[in-house]
Amino acid sequence: MSPTTASLIETEYRLGAHNYKPLDVVLSRGEGVHVWDIDGNRYLDCLSAYSAVNQGHCHPKILEAMIEQAKKLTLTSRAFRNEQLAPFYEEIAALTGSHKVLPMNSGAEAVETAIKAVRKWGYEVKGVERDKAEIIVCNNNFHGRTMGIVGFSTDPDAREGFGPFAPGFRHVPFGDIDAFRAAITENTVAFLVEPIQGEAGVLIPPAGYFAAVRELCTRHGITLILDEIQTGLGRTGKLLAEEHEKIEADVTLVGKALSGGFYPVSAVLSNSEVLGVLKPGQHGSTFGGNPLACAIARAALRVLTEEDMIGNAARMGERFHQGLTDIRSNIIKEVRGRGLMLAVELDPAAGGARKYCEALKERGILAKDTHGDTIRIAPPLVINADQVDWAVEQFAAVLRD
Ligand SMILES: *Cc1c(COP(=O)(O)O)cnc(C)c1O
Repeated sequence: MSPTTASLIETEYRLGAHNYKPLDVVLSRGEGVHVWDIDGNRYLDCLSAYSAVNQGHCHPKILEAMIEQAKKLTLTSRAFRNEQLAPFYEEIAALTGSHKVLPMNSGAEAVETAIKAVRKWGYEVKGVERDKAEIIVCNNNFHGRTMGIVGFSTDPDAREGFGPFAPGFRHVPFGDIDAFRAAITENTVAFLVEPIQGEAGVLIPPAGYFAAVRELCTRHGITLILDEIQTGLGRTGKLLAEEHEKIEADVTLVGKALSGGFYPVSAVLSNSEVLGVLKPGQHGSTFGGNPLACAIARAALRVLTEEDMIGNAARMGERFHQGLTDIRSNIIKEVRGRGLMLAVELDPAAGGARKYCEALKERGILAKDTHGDTIRIAPPLVINADQVDWAVEQFAAVLRD
């Protein structure tokens, strides 16, 4: 007898650490914008694994690239070279206009890598006094879960009980240019920031904020590091969210959709001399840049542009945004977003977003609450107009009463 939903959940609960509280749906299959649970119920995925499956579930071309490469060579370590690494560098550099690439696996590793590199750059190039480097970060940031990163989180759940933490970070409110200016010192080596704060609830900064940030960073010799792990690779209707702000970061972090959900692949992309400070032996990863990862990432990037997923994200994002805005409900406080990175913030009196996500699940939509009162909506970028319209109807039905 095959296991039931209840028995699988019970086993997870008994044997697993309880560091997640997932919706009680056990998935076994995915294709495009849809996933199916073990009982055969179909859902429209409005989370896309936190934007890791922008290209849609089990994209056939990425799958093919993965299988082909897996049959040939999967891992060499960087002690030797592999034939997939150079073309991966060429293609991602050409696509994003970067000069240097450093491949890692998870997003958090890309963030850690950038922090290491930019500190070293601060000492060797900018001339900051040894061990005095400061990195400015934002309140309510989300950059991952490793020790270095949770040390500069402001979320009590993320950090409490995990100290002591590494020093060298200063906090400013997101979107506040005066606070950023005031936080700059001669020891500031970088500003690490998300173009749109995703986990904090899809928070979009005021117009002109990033242009002013860019100007201050240039003037003070500060490396602007944009964490585009969630906003990047088409999610907001542009390849990189920085394009909305008409700026260029010095260092860009990508991950998640870099593999279309097949495999953990992340990368640090550098426009400046930052990555140039790393010499042999100073940084590495057994799996980073492996041939399987590179082949998958190349296919994932190719379909993103070949199949116009970025343009589709812009068009469908606008349609979804408009549809949600048109819902008449007194519990909706605000609808916001860019491209297919959307959020509905509910009135606190509505009693939290979780129960609405449960209700959406009953209607065939999987979405995730974040920070209490916000439902975040981020379907795969291959969603079509009919699917958007159907989704809006379900949101309307759940939020109207
Ligand atoms: C998901 C995410 C990360 C961390 O990526 P992992 O692969 O989970 O380590 C970092 N920054 C942002 C903005 C993210 O959304």
